[in-house]
Amino acid sequence: MLLSIFAATCIALLYAIQYGEQLNRKKEALNDAKELEKIIHYFSNSLYGKNTVDEILWDITKNCVGHLGFVDCVIYILDERSQVLKQKAAYGNKNIRAHEIYNPIDIPVGKGIVGYVAKEGKPLLVEDTTKDTRYIIDDNSRLSEIAVPIIIKDKLIGVIDSEHPDKKFYTKKHLNALKVISVLCANKIAGTLAEEEREKALRIKLFADQLKEIDTLRTKLFANISHELRTPLTLMKGTIEDQMEQSPAEGWKLMESQTNKLLRLINQLLDLTKLESGKFQLKLESKCIYNYIRAQVGIYTSFATKGSIEIISHIPEGKLYVEFDEDAMDNILSNLMSNAIKYSSKGDKIEFIVNYKDNVLEIQVKDQGIGINEESLPKIFDRFYQASNTVGIGTGLGLTLAKELVELYGGQIYAESTIDKGSTFFVKLPFKRIAEDELKPAVVYVSEKKQKRHNSNETKNDVKDKYILVVEDNLALGEMIVNKLKQSYKVAHVLDGKLGVEEAKKNLPDLIISDVMMEGLNGIELCSQLKSYDLTSHIPIILLTAKTDTETKILGLNTGADDYLLKPFNTKELKARIENLLQQRKLLKSQYKKIIDLSPSDITITNNEEIFVKKVITIIEQNLDNNNFGATELCKSLGMSRMQLHRKITSLTEYSTSSFIRYIRLQRAKDFLKIGETVSQTAYKVGFNSLSYFTTAFKKQFGSLPSDFN
Ligand code: ADP
Repeated sequence: MLLSIFAATCIALLYAIQYGEQLNRKKEALNDAKELEKIIHYFSNSLYGKNTVDEILWDITKNCVGHLGFVDCVIYILDERSQVLKQKAAYGNKNIRAHEIYNPIDIPVGKGIVGYVAKEGKPLLVEDTTKDTRYIIDDNSRLSEIAVPIIIKDKLIGVIDSEHPDKKFYTKKHLNALKVISVLCANKIAGTLAEEEREKALRIKLFADQLKEIDTLRTKLFANISHELRTPLTLMKGTIEDQMEQSPAEGWKLMESQTNKLLRLINQLLDLTKLESGKFQLKLESKCIYNYIRAQVGIYTSFATKGSIEIISHIPEGKLYVEFDEDAMDNILSNLMSNAIKYSSKGDKIEFIVNYKDNVLEIQVKDQGIGINEESLPKIFDRFYQASNTVGIGTGLGLTLAKELVELYGGQIYAESTIDKGSTFFVKLPFKRIAEDELKPAVVYVSEKKQKRHNSNETKNDVKDKYILVVEDNLALGEMIVNKLKQSYKVAHVLDGKLGVEEAKKNLPDLIISDVMMEGLNGIELCSQLKSYDLTSHIPIILLTAKTDTETKILGLNTGADDYLLKPFNTKELKARIENLLQQRKLLKSQYKKIIDLSPSDITITNNEEIFVKKVITIIEQNLDNNNFGATELCKSLGMSRMQLHRKITSLTEYSTSSFIRYIRLQRAKDFLKIGETVSQTAYKVGFNSLSYFTTAFKKQFGSLPSDFN
């Protein structure tokens, strides 16, 4: 009995001891956890507000020394390319000052305890370094070491390391603490790097946006200034030409050549801005390039011989039909030729050599002029660049433009030169030869010069002033129609529908005759495109069709064709149809006259023309009291050129653009006067600055004085 009581007591005691131990262990673990939590809290707080990787690393090393009781702490960051760990932050006895490392060292991955930890990606605690072969002494020998890797997204970026002079200084607690600190450090660095990347991307985007904006502004400015300068210059040029006809004095000649120079420069600037903003389009036409080049060289030969410079040309015999844009080609050749002449002296020779091989046309312009030095040669195609031996002679734009144009063709331009010996410019253009029977010239015929208008006598001369566009892909038939009409009208002929639409939009003919059956854009499509376009909707269209073609006829009428002519037709019939339609146009003018007299809200729209008239009147009315509002401003608001608007308005009314604006102003003046406004108030309200001018204009339009209406 006693024995069993003793045994039971022993067992109970044993359990009590075990339980006590368990309790102690739990307490210890709880303390450890609490301590770790404190460390996390402390380090997180301290890292808060550190915004660069450098700041983060220094903060951690400092706190490891201050908070964990280490004598030193070093952070290495891996240089991926060289696979070397570089000291980036170090605190402790040796490195007492922040952001200053006493003797920074590099450790290759795999070497020493730090290198080992980096290689393995696992933490390591060495209690006695004398017994570990991996340990390397840097300066003082230390007896224990601890190292933990810093890892971001499974990738090692560095190592946190600490050494101590005593053996067994570091404990498991230290290891756990350092592991937690390493995770904190990695997270903070990852966030900072992401933020830095984001900021960098944002800065780059901002910079790119600013550059783009500046570029757009610059292009716009160039284009606007060039435009503004071109109009007065063109007017000056016209006046100079008139004066020269009357008195061929030297002064006028000088002015003419200078105005031409300025105009050329401005046109070059405009072309360049268009090219740079991607708005320049090549207008390709199939033609014999040899013939074209021969003609161009001819022009320059006569010009050069005046200055005693000889031009020798080597252009292959025969014909080479290719697709090219005459204006662009003219620009390229004239820049090269005029430079060669400009930079040559009396007695020099210029060679002009053309070759065609493997679908590439090569043009060489070789001169014996002043040459270009080595330093300038690569820069001559830059905007406004002039070599030092030519400053002040030209403008430095010609070659830039030539290069842009050559590149638009997908070609190349370059130069070779020796100073004082001469230069050779090479142009290579990829051109595919077109067989002669595939040729399709664009505009084959435009009849005699435009007749002069006689305002007083409308009848016969008025008819001759009408412009008729023939769209016919059969060359012979087109020519026949042109021949029949050219006595009475100004006629142009284009060979396909697309060109027909372009020409109609550009020059607004008074009437169009188009074949229905054409390759590409056919007559029906042409009709529907032109009838649905503001500018051209009023133009009468006669479609030419085959006798049996009733279905197309219905289709054509639905798209707004004004008349049909069945093939074959005779001249009388054709002329009668044309006259009939032109006459109808005249009658329509009187109908529109009624509309003009109404205010926009009273106009009930029945067709496209009325929509257009209403639009124009509304714009004028919105600017009624603005005496600066004239034809130019109206064109701008409608997005049309002066010529286009003039032709459109005269085709619908009997007025020119300016007189139409004045007519509307006076018409509204009448309304104001009727409701009792004073004459001077009214004049001001309808945009007249001068009362006397208003009174005169009013009298002229209505036959009585404004005060009579008042
Ligand atoms: P510029 O109107 O000044 O001639 P370009 O753009 O046509 O402008 O040419 C740029 C520069 O290249 C010229 O100012 C000149 O220095 C040099 N250059 C061009 N062509 C020749 C040439 N044939 N001989 C010597 N120098 C030339």
